[in-house]
Amino acid sequence: MSFKDLGLLNEILRAVEEEGYSEPTPIQAQVIPLILAGHDVMAGAQTGTGKTAGFTLPLLHRLRASSSQAKRQSPRALILTPTRELAAQIGENVKTYGKYLPLKSTVIFGGASMNVQTQNIRSGVDIIIATPGRLLDHVSQRTIDLSNIEMLVLDEADRMLDMGFIHDIRKLLSLLPKDRQNLLFSATFSDEIKKLAAGFLHAHQTIEVTPHNTPAELVSHLVYPVDNKRKRELLTFLISSNNWQQVLVFTRTKHGANRLSDYLHSHKITSAAIHGNKTQAARTKALADFHKGAIRVLVATDIAARGIDIEQLPHVVNFELPHVPEDYIHRIGRTGRAGKEGAAISLVCIDETQLLHGIERLLKRKIQKMVVAGYEPDPSIPAQPIFKGRNQQQSRGSRYGEIKKQKPTSSERAVEGRFRTR
Ligand code: AMP
Repeated sequence: MSFKDLGLLNEILRAVEEEGYSEPTPIQAQVIPLILAGHDVMAGAQTGTGKTAGFTLPLLHRLRASSSQAKRQSPRALILTPTRELAAQIGENVKTYGKYLPLKSTVIFGGASMNVQTQNIRSGVDIIIATPGRLLDHVSQRTIDLSNIEMLVLDEADRMLDMGFIHDIRKLLSLLPKDRQNLLFSATFSDEIKKLAAGFLHAHQTIEVTPHNTPAELVSHLVYPVDNKRKRELLTFLISSNNWQQVLVFTRTKHGANRLSDYLHSHKITSAAIHGNKTQAARTKALADFHKGAIRVLVATDIAARGIDIEQLPHVVNFELPHVPEDYIHRIGRTGRAGKEGAAISLVCIDETQLLHGIERLLKRKIQKMVVAGYEPDPSIPAQPIFKGRNQQQSRGSRYGEIKKQKPTSSERAVEGRFRTR
């Protein structure tokens, strides 16, 4: 199947062709016709499947096809996303795919000037790409009018719920006109997501794509068993001896990300850390530097890394395994994208044995282990419980029990609150 077969406008086909896409990905082939036909859609698709173009292309088509010559009033499409980075990337995609169309878009997220955003909105835009908190700020200051929204996209809806945006989303939904097309994209269909969907989707179509080349299949997985205190040395050794030039490294905590980045720097490996405590300017700079190869290593926490879109990212390293197995899939979604192969490397200490088992259960396979000579784990070191969050809450992913996602404690919520993309 080609993009032409989907019936998209020529202006859109031309932009897609210039991106070098030869054919739609499985999610695109399924959702684009449904969206063009005006259906509400609930789509299960992870980052890396081409989902962004999956909703952006038909959205542009429908807005253009029904646009009048009358003066641009207020925005007609709203795309809600959990993080600033994701909003910025979707904003870029909308511009790229819509470059031959007379449609205007703008991105709204926290950490950037309200005034500049207000001016952009006032100048007349068709499409708003926003994080929920900052959008509500504009609503309360009456700097945005949402009464003409015809199409709504909730992207990465599961992440938005994880990040505590449910009330903001419900508030925003109540402000939109009833008669509109709704699209919900989510990596998982939890009960919470289904409940949210039932509340606002109308007679929707559900699409769940398990693509041929899921990220997990295109990626080669490898575990290096190593003692916790020697992980930094081993990482430095692996980067240097393999001459890796672009490595995304995940840590569990912001503090850990800073410490590791400093360590690498002091060992002559250029690196930067991104996490929720960094300013937007610092995060944007770190991403840009990483993108253009000015730094070799980007150390990130899970939430900050959400939505990082760097093509052909060859190596993703789990310096620490995530508490929740699904986050492993999110992390490695940054490598082996859209048909390209990548490597997911995990440095695993004895404390993380149960976390590793949880990931292997999710992947439905064992991950190959390789011990590096000189870094063999010391068998006399006992496993320690892994602590979670600022209040040192013990992870259920440790050897003390089953891996289960936990409700955030009040102090964790406070940390998340500070991170919220206002
Ligand atoms: P996404 O899942 O939206 O984050 O997209 C993942 C990556 O796939 C992005 O880098 C896109 O540029 C790329 N992509 C999207 N659609 C296609 C396609 N039809 N063919 C090849 N690459 C694509």
